[in-house]
Amino acid sequence: MTLALDSSLTYIKGVGPARAAMLQSRGLETVEDLLHYFPFRYEDRSNLKPIKQLAPGELATVIAEVKSAKLSGFRRRNLGLFEATFTDASGGILLAKWFHGAYLADRLTVGTRVALFGKIEFDNYRGEIQMMHPETELLSGDDEEGDSALHTGRIVPVYEAAGKVNARALRAIIHRVLEQMPELEDYLPPHISQKLKFPNRTEAVRAAHFPPAGTPIRMLNEFRSPAQFRLIFEEFFWLECGLEIKRRRARALPGIEFQLTDRVREQIIKLLPFKPTGAQKRVLKEIAGDMSHTSPMNRLMQGDVGSGKTIVAAEAAVIAVENGYQVAILAPTEILAAQHYFSLKPLFHKLGYVVALLTGSSTAREKQKLKDMLRAGMIPIAIGTHALIEKDVEFAKLGFVIIDEQHRFGVMQRFELARKGVSPDVLVMTATPIPRTLAMTIYGDLDISTIDELPPGRQRIITKHYTDDQVEIAYSEMRKEIDLGRQAYVVYPVIEESETQAMKAAQQMFEHLSREVFPDIPVGLLHGRLGSAEKEAAMEAFKSGRTKILVSTTVIEVGVDVPNATVMVIEQAERFGLSQLHQLRGRVGRGADQSYCLLITAKLNDTAKDRIRTLVDSSDGFKIAEMDLKLRGPGEFFGTKQSGLPSLKIANILRDPDILVAAKHEARAFVEEPPSAEAFSKAVEYIKGHWQRRYGLVQVG
Ligand code: ADP
Ligand code: MG
Repeated sequence: MTLALDSSLTYIKGVGPARAAMLQSRGLETVEDLLHYFPFRYEDRSNLKPIKQLAPGELATVIAEVKSAKLSGFRRRNLGLFEATFTDASGGILLAKWFHGAYLADRLTVGTRVALFGKIEFDNYRGEIQMMHPETELLSGDDEEGDSALHTGRIVPVYEAAGKVNARALRAIIHRVLEQMPELEDYLPPHISQKLKFPNRTEAVRAAHFPPAGTPIRMLNEFRSPAQFRLIFEEFFWLECGLEIKRRRARALPGIEFQLTDRVREQIIKLLPFKPTGAQKRVLKEIAGDMSHTSPMNRLMQGDVGSGKTIVAAEAAVIAVENGYQVAILAPTEILAAQHYFSLKPLFHKLGYVVALLTGSSTAREKQKLKDMLRAGMIPIAIGTHALIEKDVEFAKLGFVIIDEQHRFGVMQRFELARKGVSPDVLVMTATPIPRTLAMTIYGDLDISTIDELPPGRQRIITKHYTDDQVEIAYSEMRKEIDLGRQAYVVYPVIEESETQAMKAAQQMFEHLSREVFPDIPVGLLHGRLGSAEKEAAMEAFKSGRTKILVSTTVIEVGVDVPNATVMVIEQAERFGLSQLHQLRGRVGRGADQSYCLLITAKLNDTAKDRIRTLVDSSDGFKIAEMDLKLRGPGEFFGTKQSGLPSLKIANILRDPDILVAAKHEARAFVEEPPSAEAFSKAVEYIKGHWQRRYGLVQVG
């Protein structure tokens, strides 16, 4: 029997309603979904090393039997240490340990045959080799899961479990699907497949799941077998084609040709409160070039915290206003919108521009008045939050849109605002520097400008790492600075689900610091649950210097500017992302004095130490972001709610930047000069049907 690609999974032998539900929770609903559920790793079980021949330091798969097993500690709540020894035909003994391993006690009973995968270590104390937290797969399973020839004696794919459907079950299910699947249609343009000597799609999918015997295991785990290469390439190719089509459509629209007259230049010079850096000049030139061009601008300006993006955006706004157009500046939060308003208003006032602020907390009357004035064209510059993109906000002549912190907005919102003008020029700003390869995928339809130079006279912030038991040293450093007349922040992480908990921690720390550690020093407290008046009062007290220490949850991440603050203490620093730590650190070092960032953590393992070390050693936001992305993966890097990030099935932008570049190159050539009109419309149809929604390619055709 052949399975149709859109068949529900319950048609597969071995998948009943319960399993189907678990698979569905992973987004696997059809046969096609399963075919695209690729292994994340492969094990060569055709040629295994006996335990006796294992050497410390190597990553190994071992097939062995449980010889003894022991659980110590609390079984309840899955605490406790589970230890087991394993033996094989070589007679060697391997010890394995799992903290929080109580759940294994019922599975790894004496005599059970398992495959273990992990790093071989040497236990000095016992003089034995061991594995810590190896991955396990029980090899004695029920018949439903195929005979053991599927799971041993060959290269086996390892899948991420979907609920209780474990790697072994998935291997059996997918194997069955592959036996019954129809020939897959191959949409990749044939000239590309021929040039790159790709296997056809059916063959590639098959081999990516069950690689032919003899495929080098290392090549598979680097995802560079011909089959994997093709599938990765293909995924990037369609993504880049979609972006390229979108970008070309956007460029074909008639935009505004802003004139760069002498008057515009004079006004820009009048606006500037300081001499721009070389990078700022270069980026302005790139923006001005786009603006004077007929087609609409879609440009991303990125730069590290404090690199001076705001003034460049303001200069560009002058070009629009002097040409008789209105400018909208969109920020993700009220604090940020207000901050832009207060820092830009005095600059624009020098040129006689009216600036308005529109946020959710403006009163209905204020809103109405502003809307009327915007519609009448009396306000050249409007700054605001989401309130600016509400339906009833109309502009007389919107010509330029600036969006701050784009990654917090969905792609849709970018379009909403742009739609309020006749193809206005759009400039997106971000302070989270994005590594190039990632920018190419998520901002693939944008041109990118980078401010890679800080304004002159910035001192490098000295960053130090202390563990909890050394916190007294951090406190004494704080005191030293405060005695010199400076101020300090103490920050607590807010973990998404537990703002209350963070608030409590901040509250407790506030009491501890103000009563016990610094009874002689005024301490303030700021957290998200305070009312806005209380927040303002706490901020004001710190700004004016009445409080010397401000204990806070991460609310200060955006928008605080106190040049006299020279110490940033970050508690539980291991809980923050690196980029976030970097942003927090950017809150000090704003004045002329040497500033310090003190990272306090629990005792850390080596990976966590490396993470923190990145921050101690580097002040380069790009480098830090790259590392952050590598360590956490794109999903977490942007937060789980992040929209606009394509969900890739086999391609991985961190692992496969080389293939991405190749695919982008081919995609561009294909869209620019398709082999035939039919080939092109076939591709557009395919992208629309298969990729558009997944990649968030709003409107390809
Ligand atoms: P960001 O890129 O993080 O938005 P800002 O635009 O807020 O950075 O600039 C950070 C600070 O540096 C501001 O106080 C700004 O006035 C100042 N600044 C920006 N450019 C320069 C410059 N060329 N020379 C001196 N100070 C500058
Ligand atoms: Mg233009």
